[in-house]
Amino acid sequence: MLKNNTKIYLSSPHMRGTEKKYVNEAFDSNWIAPLGKNVDYFESDLKTYLNRNVFVTALSSGTAAIHLGLILLGVKADDEVICQSLTFTASANPILYLQATPIFVDSELDTWNLCPIALEAAIIDRIKLGKKPKAIITVHLYGNPYKIDAVRAIADRFQIPILEDAAEALGSTFKGQKCGTFGDLSVLSFNGNKIITTSGGGALVSYSENIKAKAIFLATQSKDNAIHYEHSEIGYNYRLSNICASIGRGQMEVLDEHVSLRRGMHQFYKKLFHNVPGVSVFDVPNRDYFSNHWLTVITIDPEESSGVDCTILRLAFEAENIESRLIWKPLHLQPLYEKFPYYGTTIAEGLFGKGLCLPSGSNLTQSEKMRIQNVIQRTFKIKKALPIEVAVSRKNRLLNYNLVMKFFLENIFKTT
Ligand SMILES: *Cc1c(COP(=O)(O)O)cnc(C)c1O
Repeated sequence: MLKNNTKIYLSSPHMRGTEKKYVNEAFDSNWIAPLGKNVDYFESDLKTYLNRNVFVTALSSGTAAIHLGLILLGVKADDEVICQSLTFTASANPILYLQATPIFVDSELDTWNLCPIALEAAIIDRIKLGKKPKAIITVHLYGNPYKIDAVRAIADRFQIPILEDAAEALGSTFKGQKCGTFGDLSVLSFNGNKIITTSGGGALVSYSENIKAKAIFLATQSKDNAIHYEHSEIGYNYRLSNICASIGRGQMEVLDEHVSLRRGMHQFYKKLFHNVPGVSVFDVPNRDYFSNHWLTVITIDPEESSGVDCTILRLAFEAENIESRLIWKPLHLQPLYEKFPYYGTTIAEGLFGKGLCLPSGSNLTQSEKMRIQNVIQRTFKIKKALPIEVAVSRKNRLLNYNLVMKFFLENIFKTT
């Protein structure tokens, strides 16, 4: 029998059939441009799904939505913008597009998202240093909502608007309300690896028709109202195409099913790791939080798992052509961002060393799940037979880690 070794991805596009119907419609009507009724329909489907009185603007990517969101919140060169450190680089890149300064903030352990204590300390310190941050970029990491009430209370007290990066959290809720509706402005992504995809795309969600009009104006080259081409502002080419929106319409019909399937993957891993010492499957803290479980993430404590760590498991997956990835490396530790201020301790940093994202797609078959299960079971059984060099280098690493921890605990708030 031939061994089936096709690659298993972390999260791959999952087309269901109706997407083609809408794409064909777009072809038949020759509405191929970023204009056409499928863009309107897709926006209206999203609005219905979000179940609030919001205005949705479909854009070419989530990153474009963050960029326009910051512009609409009035962020200009030399302004400061607070951003969760433990996130994908796309959350913060648009701050740099605007020549503004990112101020990074640590996570807390319940949701891995923005730590309210560190957030408040950061705001107070920035104000003391002379500048009130212009916006706070919040993230629902891996689909798990952040501490929405606590963060909102702080933002309101200091009157700083929230730009909610809900790129990973379409379908997640907090106290029954959909993620993507908690920001003064909110951002969705339909990139190829997200819970639904338009091949590439995003959306900006706002509570005002004027903001939507301004977002469309900026996204279509800022054309002034004239019969010739007249421009008094910088414009962008950020509108979603009608073809991509057609795919989006089809995907909206299966979004809830994708959420259940991803949550099913999370259950699958919870069962698998149920009795494995040292491994925990990242989950929401209580019933107020409902995660789409876009990706299932585990943390491994090698001291308790008798030596198996993220690297060993990742390599074991790789040998079987299965993709797994370390969690986002905190942005304040990235070469691109390390010169910018950071507030917090080592929560985000500690998670980075211990967290691994597992294949979580809504389209994984029974036999693919078996391949994943086999790797996990094998890896956590052979743990005692590790080569001696691996064990020694791990011990050194742990020693270094303890030193780093000690340093941070002695300097609770590192500011630059
Ligand atoms: C995917 C992602 C983005 C960017 O979305 P794109 O549509 O790929 O530009 C932004 N923030 C987070 C947290 C993401 O995961």
